[in-house]
Amino acid sequence: MVKLVYIIVDGMADLPIRLLNNKTPLEYAYKPNISSFLKHATYGFPSVLGKLAPQSDVGVMADLSYDPIKYSTGRGWFECLGLGMAPKDGELSVRVNFGEVKGRKISSVRTYMSKEELHLLEAEINEKVQMPIGFRFKVGEDYRAGLVLTSDKEQFSEYVSNNEPGYTPKFYKTGKKLSFATDIKDLKIHDIKPLRHGAKYTAELLNLFIKNAIKVIKNSEVFILRAKDNKPLPNYLFLRDAAVRDPHLPAINEKFKRRWAAITGMPLEKGIASAAGMKLIEVEESQDINKNFSEKAESVAAAMRSFDCVYLHIKQTDSVSHLGKYADKYAIIEAIDRIIIGRLLRELNIQRGDTLVMTCDHATSCELKRHINSNIPVLIVNRKFGQNKDFGEANCRKKHISAIERATDILPFVVALK
Ligand SMILES: [Zn+2]
Repeated sequence: MVKLVYIIVDGMADLPIRLLNNKTPLEYAYKPNISSFLKHATYGFPSVLGKLAPQSDVGVMADLSYDPIKYSTGRGWFECLGLGMAPKDGELSVRVNFGEVKGRKISSVRTYMSKEELHLLEAEINEKVQMPIGFRFKVGEDYRAGLVLTSDKEQFSEYVSNNEPGYTPKFYKTGKKLSFATDIKDLKIHDIKPLRHGAKYTAELLNLFIKNAIKVIKNSEVFILRAKDNKPLPNYLFLRDAAVRDPHLPAINEKFKRRWAAITGMPLEKGIASAAGMKLIEVEESQDINKNFSEKAESVAAAMRSFDCVYLHIKQTDSVSHLGKYADKYAIIEAIDRIIIGRLLRELNIQRGDTLVMTCDHATSCELKRHINSNIPVLIVNRKFGQNKDFGEANCRKKHISAIERATDILPFVVALK
């Protein structure tokens, strides 16, 4: 059986940057191993979701062939599923950030903490927060967490606002819910508001959880020690993308008649991959990029022995883009080329019919420090194609195949290649 390796490099696409000779980080990066694959390559340049700047959930779903407008019930579901919280239909799943406020103003929606600090806060919150209904709270990486509320009294509603100001929910006639990255204009703290009739109960409970959890956090040892050391404080919780229903993604193994494995350490991507029915292969998201990429490369090589298709997600490019670190971004792309693509040169047999795809879930601009609505560059390596020019946004825009108009078209096209 031929193999497919599908790499999604989070937020890889960007705009040209003056200090990089008007190249994007992808174009500027030295990528000799990708260049070796260009003997048999073609390009796609699809839009992810038209005019709207996508979040990662939307982009990853689309890259994996699931139309977000048809399936998305809210990012909270995938986040909590990926954290191992096993949300059920009727429960309310929410993505949470630990953040910091000063007075009534937001100073950051991301208070980075160590694993140990996060786990101590998780234990305190689960043990000490008093709520009139059931809940479970679980931390992820850095500043992230998930919250699941359970109630046998009233039904929850997903029609509530986010109090994380960078993302605004949008509801579709199909009953589906997505949310989009928006400019933060107003740094005031807002309560979560009901957006439709019947959502008041849910909004009130979420606001109550925030209030009660903040009290517990402020009395915790983690908080007191951080305050003493003058470190950024986790003195507020920012919630977003509440979901109440399973998105019921059709199983990817059935859809494409191939066996899939996923390699990612991030809860959101784990959640989407497991909702699609992929086998999750655990990898640690270590801070050391060389170690992280070497482990991922080995995991991909091992998974290729038992699975037909391997989805690999790489997060670091997006994180540095949000911080405006364009030099780190091209250095990470160079490390992907050196460590991961270098390893794949030995593992993939293009003559036999194996395929490599490298793309991203959305573009993240280092200059604007946020997601943008640009089309995404897609590299497809397969023996069907001839020599191509350097992989980057401009070349993909100039010369791309017409069969891939939207990101949801990538996989059906690729799987049909012989
Ligand atoms: Zn992303």
